Amino acid sequence: MTRPIRVAIIGSGPSGIYAADALAAQEDVAVSVDIIDRLPSPFGLVRYGVAPDHLSIRSVRDTLDKVLDLANVRFIGNVEVGRDLSLPDLRRFYDAIVLTYGASRDRSLGIPGEDLTGSIAATDFVNWYTGHPDTPPDAFAEFLSTATQVAIIGVGNVAVDVTRILVKAPGEIDHTDMPQHVFDALRASTVTDVHIIGRRGPAQATWTTKELRELGELEEAEVIIESDADASDAASQSAMATGKVVARNVAVIEEWSQRPPRDTRRRIHLHFRRRPREISGDVGVEQITLERTQIDEDGRAHGTGDLSTLAVDAVIRSVGYRGTPVDGIPFDDTRNVIPNAEGRVIDGGSPIPGVYVAGWIKRGPTGIIGTNKKDAVQTVGHLLTDAADANFRTAAQPEESAVDAFLASVTVVDVPGWRRIDSAERALGATRGRDRTTLHDRAQLLDAASGVTPD
Ligand code: NAP
Repeated sequence: MTRPIRVAIIGSGPSGIYAADALAAQEDVAVSVDIIDRLPSPFGLVRYGVAPDHLSIRSVRDTLDKVLDLANVRFIGNVEVGRDLSLPDLRRFYDAIVLTYGASRDRSLGIPGEDLTGSIAATDFVNWYTGHPDTPPDAFAEFLSTATQVAIIGVGNVAVDVTRILVKAPGEIDHTDMPQHVFDALRASTVTDVHIIGRRGPAQATWTTKELRELGELEEAEVIIESDADASDAASQSAMATGKVVARNVAVIEEWSQRPPRDTRRRIHLHFRRRPREISGDVGVEQITLERTQIDEDGRAHGTGDLSTLAVDAVIRSVGYRGTPVDGIPFDDTRNVIPNAEGRVIDGGSPIPGVYVAGWIKRGPTGIIGTNKKDAVQTVGHLLTDAADANFRTAAQPEESAVDAFLASVTVVDVPGWRRIDSAERALGATRGRDRTTLHDRAQLLDAASGVTPD
C-alpha cells in the first residue's frame, strides 16, 4: 500500500489551518499534514492581528482549533523554518510544502523622519496589544505615558483598530483577552487626540462600514471631521455608484459631520486629502508635515504643493502589511508576494514541484479572514491534482517520525502542549473575571505548554 502524502504547512494562521482542513477533509488521497509555526501558539493574525475587542471575529479561533484535533493533522509549534528546519530539510521530510506564513512586516512610507523615536509601525503596536511574544511588554510605555496628540497614517481597518484601542474607555476593553500590562498601560494612557490621515478622500478609504461606524459609538471619544471629506468629485461619485460599501462609508462620515459636538475626554479627528511629507522633531516626533492632495478622475492622489503641519507626539504608520522572502524560494519584490499560479509557486515561468502558497504571501495583505478559505481551497485543489503524478512522493525519509527525530533538540509545542497553554490562559483570565488573559512571554508560553502554571 502506498503511504499517505506528507504535507508541511508553514504558518498556522487562517490560511494555513484552512489549507490543512481542505487536505484532511477530502478522501481521494490519503494525507498526513504537519502545521509548522515559529510561535508556540497557533492561529497567526487571529491571535496577533484581530483586535482584542472584536470578540466575534476572534471567536473564529474555535473553528480553526477543531482542525488541530483531526487525526491526520499535527501542530509543530515553536519551530522556525530557516532556524530549526531549512528548506532542503523540509524537502527531505515532506512531499509537498505549503507556505502560508503571511505578511507580518510593515510597509514603509518612504518619507524623512520615518525612523524618529515616536514614529511607530502599526504592526508593532498591534503585536504589543495582542501580546505577541516578540514585542517587549514595555515597548510603548513611554509613548502611552507621555503622548497626547497622535497621528495615524492610513485609512484602512488596521488604522480603525488602533484608533479604537487608543481611545476606548477602560470599561470598553476590560472584558478582552489582552495581557494585563496592556490594560494597565492603556488605562493610564495620556492620549487625548488621534488624527487619522487619509491621502485620498472618504470614498477611497479601505475601511469597512461596520468597523468605521464603531468609531462613532465610543463612550469617551467623539469624531471630528477636519478636512476635505467632500465626495462630490467624479472619481468619488463613480466609486459610490458602483460600490455599496463606499457609499455607506461616505454616508457615515457625512452623518458625523452634522452631529452636534460632544464634550468628550478624547477626540478622533479625520483628515482627508492630506499626504504625509515629513515627520520631524529634535529628539523624537514633534510634528508631521502634510501636503494637500487632489483626486484625479481615476481616484489617484496628486500633491498640490499646499503644505501644513500638525503638532503631534507620535505617528503610527498604518499603511499596510508586507510579505518577506524565505531562503530558496523566489520572491516578487514589487508585490511582496511569492510568485505563483493559483497557489503553485512559479520559478522562471514553471511551477516548482511540490511547493505551494496560500493566504497573504500568495495574494498580498487583503481581504477578510474568510477570504483565506477560498484561497487555501484553490491551492489545495492544485496540490491534490499534482499528487496524482507518480513522482509526487519525493520525501527521502520513509517515516513520518523522521522529522520528530530531527527536531529532538528543539522544544516543540504539539497539540496537547497548545491545549495546556489554552487552559493556562483561561485560568489566568478567570482570576480577573475574564474569559482569557493572553500569555505574552515566550518562556511563560513554553512553561505553560509543558504543564507549569504561570505566576
Ligand atoms: P489597507 O486596507 O490596505 O489600508 C492601508 C491604508 O494605507 C490605505 O488607506 C492606503 O491608502 C494607505 N497608504 C498606503 N500607502 C500610503 C502612503 N505612502 N501614504 C499615505 N497613506 C498610504 O491595509 P490595513 O488597514 O493594514 O488592513 C490590511 C487588511 O486586513 C485589509 O484587507 C483589512 O480590511 C484587513 N483587516 C480587517 C479587519 C476587520 O475586518 N475588522 C481589521 C483589520 C484589518 P491608499 O488607498 O491611498 O493606498
